[in-house]
Amino acid sequence: MSARLLEGAPIADRIKDDVKAAIAEMATPPKLAAILATDNKGAAFYAKAQKKACEEVGIAYELVELGAEADQATVEGNIGQLNADANVTGIILLMPVAEGVDSRACQRAIDPDKDVDGVHPANLGRVVQGSTTLAPCTAQAVFELAKASGVALFDEPMQCVGKGIEVCVVGHSEIVGKPSALLLLDKFCTITVCHIGTRDLKAHSTKADLLVVAVGKAGLVKGEHVKPGAVVIDVGINRIKDDEGKTKTVGDVVFDEAVEIASQITPVPGGVGAVTTAMLLKNVIDAARLQGK
Ligand code: NAD
Repeated sequence: MSARLLEGAPIADRIKDDVKAAIAEMATPPKLAAILATDNKGAAFYAKAQKKACEEVGIAYELVELGAEADQATVEGNIGQLNADANVTGIILLMPVAEGVDSRACQRAIDPDKDVDGVHPANLGRVVQGSTTLAPCTAQAVFELAKASGVALFDEPMQCVGKGIEVCVVGHSEIVGKPSALLLLDKFCTITVCHIGTRDLKAHSTKADLLVVAVGKAGLVKGEHVKPGAVVIDVGINRIKDDEGKTKTVGDVVFDEAVEIASQITPVPGGVGAVTTAMLLKNVIDAARLQGK
């Protein structure tokens, strides 16, 4: 069997069209402010990509550059100003932050209604209640890809009796693994979450009709970990050198093996990443609406 590619672009395009339509109905376009409190090149690169994505759909973007010298008070002070600025409808703290800055405390300082990254405890709480409003972007991307794959997701308990699919989520981070598991749980999937402490990954992963992998280790999940006919969503992004010494981006799943066993699989790049970016834009709209815009 050769799996169908579960590509992110068509889903991302649909979400971006919805975002553009929503902005067309707003009196003032939403504005996203991103705080860069680091000299980390990856974070700066990510900010550029965010700016481009925002401007493509008509969201204003402001980058607040605080540099590697930023301390807790400076970061929280800037967050406070952005919270109070009615023109700013979304706030994102780019990761990582400078050494000595407590990122969790900063995330808690963001007005939950402006928290477009979905990292404030109030928004993670919404996920527990089954809401995707201001849920972490990557978890929403996993959820959208799962829906697009056509696996059985149910809204009502009466529809799902004895029919819920088995899901294995590998990785239990706060922004990807845990919220992805919770969103799918709300659709009556039976969830197993594996992590660094899991004794026998294969025993769990081979039971899964839907296998979500979000670890950050290239090649962790091989063909033998995949149940024949399963849907595989590979969240991992890893930069590795190929046999010719060229750097390339791969996921956590050995694609060439899994593609022969799965029924559908997300490519890396071209799968989860594109949808995650679109979900950030969707969260900017959701945040603006929560603020009555
Ligand atoms: P993280 O480092 O916060 O969490 C990694 C998780 O993997 C942990 O739960 C850990 O317990 C688990 N783990 C580590 N080794 C394991 C093993 N041997 N077996 C089973 N589980 C193991 O990472 P994260 O922020 O959740 O990101 C995971 C990956 O997803 C990274 O590659 C990251 O770059 C990528 N990512 C992609 C997107 C996207 O849009 N495509 C967005 C966010 C993160």
